[in-house]
Amino acid sequence: MSSYDVIVVGLGGMGSAAAYQLAARGQRVLGIEQFQAAHDLGSSHGRSRITRMAYAEHPSYVPLMRRAYELWRHAESDSGRRLLTMTGGIMLGRPESPLVSGARSSAQRWDLPHEVLDPAEVRRRFPTLTPGDDELGVYEPDAGFVRPEASVLAHNELAEGAGAELHYNERVVRWQATADEARVTTGQGTYAAGRLVFCAGPWSSQLLTNLGVSLVVERQVMHWFEPGGGVARFYPDRHPVYLWEADPESLFYGFPAQVGEDRLKVAFYHRPGVTTPDEIDRTVAQAEVHEIAEYLASRVPSLPGRHVESQTCMYTLTPDHDFIIGIHPEHPRVVVGAGFSGHGFKFVPLIGEVLADLATVGRTRHDIGLFDPKRDAARAASAAS
Ligand SMILES: Cc1cc2nc3c(=O)[nH]c(=O)nc-3n(C[C@H](O)[C@H](O)[C@H](O)COP(=O)(O)OP(=O)(O)OC[C@H]3O[C@@H](n4cnc5c(N)ncnc54)[C@H](O)[C@@H]3O)c2cc1C
Repeated sequence: MSSYDVIVVGLGGMGSAAAYQLAARGQRVLGIEQFQAAHDLGSSHGRSRITRMAYAEHPSYVPLMRRAYELWRHAESDSGRRLLTMTGGIMLGRPESPLVSGARSSAQRWDLPHEVLDPAEVRRRFPTLTPGDDELGVYEPDAGFVRPEASVLAHNELAEGAGAELHYNERVVRWQATADEARVTTGQGTYAAGRLVFCAGPWSSQLLTNLGVSLVVERQVMHWFEPGGGVARFYPDRHPVYLWEADPESLFYGFPAQVGEDRLKVAFYHRPGVTTPDEIDRTVAQAEVHEIAEYLASRVPSLPGRHVESQTCMYTLTPDHDFIIGIHPEHPRVVVGAGFSGHGFKFVPLIGEVLADLATVGRTRHDIGLFDPKRDAARAASAAS
């Protein structure tokens, strides 16, 4: 049986970055992926993911995002692939909405460059966006998008270039960890290592039944439309990435036109749809296309144009929507990166770095207190006392 320093289970967004960071540190790495590289059956596909700094969810994400931007640029220059495009970004909604108020407080807390725009100013600067009179825009220059498939391919290539062994179309069916070593078993064999790093995305709760955190998988849909009147006015200088909290139930977001493409992507940030990776319905109903087209009609009026394509994707949600990153509470040889709750991709290279820190030296210089796998148990215990 071959023996490795670290086995990374799952080579999607996070696992590919972890495999690279580990191999770059001279670790003997085996990465195991059940499908092919950069497949479209998990959470890391659909050609674009928003990146932003003025993080509405919590100000603790901001320093992590700073480091992520540095690492995105390194991965770009090391791989020769185009991964990150800065376009600026705007968060729209009523002043008291969590999106707008949260983005403002993160920007203030970290002194981030940003502008608060009234609706007339938003319409003047970005004529494709037509907010209501009671809405505001928080514009920040340090936002844009990353390319998920290119990121997975780049990190896998870099990992292999640094000596990692990557197996595709091989599924981990069970694992065990003892005081001396860890082992994983696949359809093809059993492998031993000093450490395991689990990055199984929506499959995480199938493999990590005793993690102590409940993970809920949700089906979400991405849509592409060809705008009426051509794409030119949807180029990034006039149409940045945006998130829009139209009402408390409906946050949607979209992207500018990418060079060479005639279509733009839009999606609801969240629609109810609990599922599992084995049961997800991957067909998209006409009613789902109509629903988003109706939202766009009054807010990005020239966009709905012609519907071209829709695709499903999965979120893996924690109860508080913060990530899970840490050493497994019951297995010191096991490191977990999971529960990225629909907003993890922008952090991919940073998460690779943190997982590599945890798997090699057991700690990290980054503040990951928000992501402690034991936080649910700690909260329940303090509520009970
Ligand atoms: C529609 C949509 C829009 C999003 N938009 C944004 C955005 O704008 N900005 C942002 O920052 N984030 C966004 N996200 C979230 C982000 O994409 C995810 O947080 C991220 O992709 C999660 O990566 P992951 O590595 O955890 O999961 P995945 O990429 O799914 O990787 C898990 C991998 O593990 C493999 N695997 C699982 N089980 C096994 C096994 N037993 N054996 C071998 N391999 C296994 C899977 O095949 C898969 O390749 C979005 C997500 C979706 C779905």
